[in-house]
Amino acid sequence: MNTPTNVFEHIISLSKRRGFIFQSSEIYGGLAATYDYGPLGVELKRNVMNRWWNAMVRQHDNIEGIDAAILMHATVWKASGHVDAFNDPLIDDRASKRRYRADQLIENHMAKLEKDGKTEHLAEVNTRFVAALNAETDEAVCKGLYDIIMEEKIKAPDSGAFDWTEVRQFNLMFSTYSGPVADADAKIYLRPETAQGIFVNFHNVRETARQQIPFGIAQIGKAFRNEIVARQFIFRMREFEQMEMQYFLKPGAQLEAYEEWRAKRLQWHLDNGIREEKLRWHVHEKLAHYADAAVDIQYEFPFGWSEVEGIHSRTDYDLRRHQEFSGKNMHYSDTQSGEKYLPYVVETSTGLDRNVLMLLCEAYRSEKLENGETRDVLKFHPRIAPITVAVLPLVKKDGMPETAHSIEAELRDFFNVFYDEKGAIGRRYRRMDEVGTPYCLTIDGQTLEDGTVTIRDRDTMQQDRIHRHHVLNYLKNKIQQWKSTTN
Ligand code: ATP
Repeated sequence: MNTPTNVFEHIISLSKRRGFIFQSSEIYGGLAATYDYGPLGVELKRNVMNRWWNAMVRQHDNIEGIDAAILMHATVWKASGHVDAFNDPLIDDRASKRRYRADQLIENHMAKLEKDGKTEHLAEVNTRFVAALNAETDEAVCKGLYDIIMEEKIKAPDSGAFDWTEVRQFNLMFSTYSGPVADADAKIYLRPETAQGIFVNFHNVRETARQQIPFGIAQIGKAFRNEIVARQFIFRMREFEQMEMQYFLKPGAQLEAYEEWRAKRLQWHLDNGIREEKLRWHVHEKLAHYADAAVDIQYEFPFGWSEVEGIHSRTDYDLRRHQEFSGKNMHYSDTQSGEKYLPYVVETSTGLDRNVLMLLCEAYRSEKLENGETRDVLKFHPRIAPITVAVLPLVKKDGMPETAHSIEAELRDFFNVFYDEKGAIGRRYRRMDEVGTPYCLTIDGQTLEDGTVTIRDRDTMQQDRIHRHHVLNYLKNKIQQWKSTTN
């Protein structure tokens, strides 16, 4: 039976088997929560990245891109609040010696209450949970979470024991030293988010790109978090990539921009082929103290609804803090009205790897065919698929490979093309289904006579026979009209 856990395991094993994603340092037993992208994974990831860059930077005159360094001045992270407050509340199971995030234990407990229809009890726990998270001091947060775990008698998921330590805060930043001397002054951090590289470059970008408010700065890059509960494959990694955009605006204009960006970002996921019913909003009940609105876009992964993107209205918190810590004026001067103010910020922040995982989960189907066989297929949107078209000569003789190569060369300027002449055609189709190639173009005996080829559609498995000169337009049309099917 295809249970969600089962499906997720299939996706993980297919990812490895077909060269999408490998465990990092595998021959040494692997490094936890870090992964490498293989030949197909890197194509998939780049397609996602390019679509984001195109949608955000190239489609907007008032959004500029940057590529800031991973290493930044240590004070950046004091100003941003990460040194003091980028913590997770942790609790240890004494029986198994495993460590958990206290807030996640409670969230999972609440999900169970919801599933069991215990709505009244759920509401009560939720009120206590929100109050605990909003407590003034770290100690009070830890105590509040600990009390809920005790009162609700939440057991350790792995050992089933109820033998917990206290809850305490743990900072998620990786630190290292810059230069030859490993002393406190040389201590720096691997950035835990890309956003700060944008804030510190606010004036540089505004001046050099001659932008006026409202305008945005976008960036794709690596971020590092020493995540404690790092499971679920590439959902939660210690080294991952973010795609973030900070939109600077006049105070008072933030909520309109926030709504606008919510709509645009949801549409982007739909345009990548994610079905609408698999996405939902999760409005934050606990706002960071500087935020005035925040929402997540969640996707229904096989392991449950989880965040893929956050859209946050962050007020002037970041620029104000950098002004305070750097002593530099971060104000904006409106040349027309003469007004001076610290801009407000609405940000959109999504994880590239998490998008890749969502697309893999969304695309994966195990289908029973009419002949009784099952086929594993990845139904990627053709614009996302690592290979767009496979060119397959039916047999490796009679001039078919030569004709196939000439068609392949014509298509390479437009698509990622894969050429394969080995093995039975049925097996070659199956392999292409499994890696999500939407179109297979076959050159057969008839091609040599009248110049026609067959194009097989991955989703319907139907074949059309068309003249080779029409292939390019045929594929462009098909890609434009592609729609995700629910089966
Ligand atoms: P979570 O609650 O899942 O830890 P977060 O709220 O801390 O996420 P943000 O700081 O808002 O996440 O980061 C923005 C985006 O970056 C997230 O929506 C997610 O897609 C991605 N992201 C965050 N942490 C990780 C991680 N450890 N591995 C992969 N992607 C991540």
